[in-house]
Amino acid sequence: MIEFIKALLDKGVAYVAGDGVYFDIDKFPRYGKLSGVDVTKVKSTERMAKDEYDKEALHDFVLWKKSTEEEIERGVYYDSPWGEGRPGWHIECSVMTRSFLGDSLDIHVGGEDLAFPHHENEIAQSESLTGRQFVNYWMHVRHLMINGRSMSKSLGNYVSFDEVISKFGAEAYRYFLLSVHYRRPLDYTEETMEIAQNSTAKLENTLDLIDNAIRSKDKNLDFTDREKSFLSEVYEQRRRFEEAMDDDLDTHGALDALHALSGTINEYVSEAPNKGVLLKAYETYRKLLSALGLFEKRGVETDELTEELIVVISKLREKLRSERNYQLSDWIRDLLAETGVILSDTKEGTSWKIERK
Ligand SMILES: [Zn+2]
Repeated sequence: MIEFIKALLDKGVAYVAGDGVYFDIDKFPRYGKLSGVDVTKVKSTERMAKDEYDKEALHDFVLWKKSTEEEIERGVYYDSPWGEGRPGWHIECSVMTRSFLGDSLDIHVGGEDLAFPHHENEIAQSESLTGRQFVNYWMHVRHLMINGRSMSKSLGNYVSFDEVISKFGAEAYRYFLLSVHYRRPLDYTEETMEIAQNSTAKLENTLDLIDNAIRSKDKNLDFTDREKSFLSEVYEQRRRFEEAMDDDLDTHGALDALHALSGTINEYVSEAPNKGVLLKAYETYRKLLSALGLFEKRGVETDELTEELIVVISKLREKLRSERNYQLSDWIRDLLAETGVILSDTKEGTSWKIERK
């Protein structure tokens, strides 16, 4: 940070004042472009040395803040060419991003309240130093609300990640975040989380149905009009998904397309699917889910031998059940569950899936 500030001073865009080093926003004509703040308004003569983001006024902002005597007594300072002090709020972002990601970043995200002054200041510092465009795409998200109010310590209305994850699961939480466009406010309530949980379960159920169909015997090797129209429906939903995502990351629209795709697959699977055709649909479905980071932990790579062994154990258990030896058959089911192999008994027989946490 000290090196960065020195370089800004060398370029003549910063100056040393009595209480610290400041960036001179008059030296950066593009200042305000991101947030639309009006720089033709007279800049406040007051400098911004406080450690707060001031949303109201245009200021020269602090790069290095000299410590007060009281702070020095408490040991709150670093040595610098400008005396004991500490960096301003904005400078660390410019320095960190540059050291890890280089002069230019493709995407920079942040809460909507950070556009001005924080991100304006990052741009001013970084572009003044490097002469290159700092960020190609800025994405500012609306705030996460909780029961219609903003989350705050003083209101005591916050929930911890651990609570959310243990109550609803990580997939449901991810789904909830995606369910509303990032530029729209998102409201966390028990109800919205339950909706997210149900929707996630629906999408996952399709994966279960596909898994089971693929494991069962081939009954359909035909490629008829039914297969043709199924596949064209699948590709139509993929196109809708991509169109939504291309439209400023409309994840809400993308999820709509995913649900339509899931419904299409469910219907096709229910009646003697052609496995080759189903696999094509599966590939598309998985690809779209993983574009949103959904169900990435699902499905452990298994080899043929493992799958055959699971079937052998499952048959052994069915045999025990037919002999009404439920104690032993339940014990086998529980042992398998401990390894992450989940058996479920349906009308068509026992199916299995792997769920490793
Ligand atoms: Zn930042």
